[in-house]
Amino acid sequence: MSEKEILCSFCGRTKSQTKLLIAGLDAHICDICISQADLILKDDESSTDLDTSTFDLKPPKEIKSFLDQYVIGQDQAKKVLSVAVYNHYKRILQDKLQDDIDIQKSNVLLVGPTGTGKTLLAQTIAKLLNVPIAIVDATVLTEAGYVGEDVESILSKLLQAADFDVKKAENGIVFIDEIDKIARKRDNPSITRDVSGEGVQQALLKLLEGTTVNVPPKGGRKHPDQKFIELNTSNILFIAGGAFDGIEKIIKTRLNLQSIGYKMSKEHKMHVQEDNLLRYINPHDVRTYGLIPEIIGRLPVLSFLNPLSKDALRDIMTVPNNALIKQYQKLFEMDGINFSITSSAIDYIVDKAMEYNLGARGLRNLCEAILNDAMFNLPNSEVKDLKVTKVYADQKLQMIDMTYLKAVS
Ligand code: ADP
Repeated sequence: MSEKEILCSFCGRTKSQTKLLIAGLDAHICDICISQADLILKDDESSTDLDTSTFDLKPPKEIKSFLDQYVIGQDQAKKVLSVAVYNHYKRILQDKLQDDIDIQKSNVLLVGPTGTGKTLLAQTIAKLLNVPIAIVDATVLTEAGYVGEDVESILSKLLQAADFDVKKAENGIVFIDEIDKIARKRDNPSITRDVSGEGVQQALLKLLEGTTVNVPPKGGRKHPDQKFIELNTSNILFIAGGAFDGIEKIIKTRLNLQSIGYKMSKEHKMHVQEDNLLRYINPHDVRTYGLIPEIIGRLPVLSFLNPLSKDALRDIMTVPNNALIKQYQKLFEMDGINFSITSSAIDYIVDKAMEYNLGARGLRNLCEAILNDAMFNLPNSEVKDLKVTKVYADQKLQMIDMTYLKAVS
């Protein structure tokens, strides 16, 4: 047989149509078929359930201590989340064949002002468990409305985060931000105008509960020809977050109503701490706010986050494993520069964040504004020490338009 006539025994391509043709005993295989066979093999390998022998399920206290390393304060939310995550993965590891008790999913709803750590909590849980996480914005879903297709894009993101490993994605975490924005508007009597909000909620229901969805892979490298990838959401942990602006009013009204209903004594009323009414939140308040009962039922674990105090903002800058100051120290260190910042400079930055109501996100923007000149000028210069004092920080901020910082924080 002449060389020209050699074909791939699997696809029939000629040698000139392939990059490589490997000869076996009585057959040949080309590089394209080898790649495809490799994919099939990998798919098969990954099609086992969560590997119970290697999956390291940590008890709630350990989960919380891990969260403590990254997230400042928010003790109540951390405790509630730790238990929910523990129970969620116990449910996955439960031997369904030997058990007739069906453990319900522990999807979580976190209510709290923006920039207080809701997303960070979800990200840190994913880091701890080494599972993929998709962070999606519920407001994007409202645009396409209630058609439902868009809701599936949430899973495309998760697949991407899992590098298209279906089983990994099926045990991952989805954080849905701004869930409050798809609430039915209470003050809007026109039902037709509000149909998208409720429509998205309806589309989310099945996803939250557990269903098989055909997901468009969107940019998937491993499955270039495949139109849809089947994904089951039963073991995905959904964490939803929202600021629920104005829900305090609802909580207050309920608490007052109760106090009349049960004829609460004056002393009892005093126990209600009005500074942070969110701590009294219950599913009923969320329902009054406009989430449909079915959604609330599928987010059975509810907790709240506190607004960040000055002390909390200060700690955020210095304490966590990847605290801002530690990050800048590392960045400068890589240029051989010894970076330090005085305590009063840190206080100054925190004060500015409070004064302009920039929240935790603003801390980073303030630091960038203060350090930008140094980060631009010092690499490859003679200067090997940078000490940021309050005066230095103030000088740099004088040149910044604070309204701009507010807009980007
Ligand atoms: P949210 O989801 O509540 O709007 P994020 O979790 O996205 O807020 O927080 C924004 C950023 O602010 C985080 O990336 C983190 O740097 C910082 N941050 C916010 N809250 C905390 C906190 N409690 N502890 C540590 N950092 C925080």
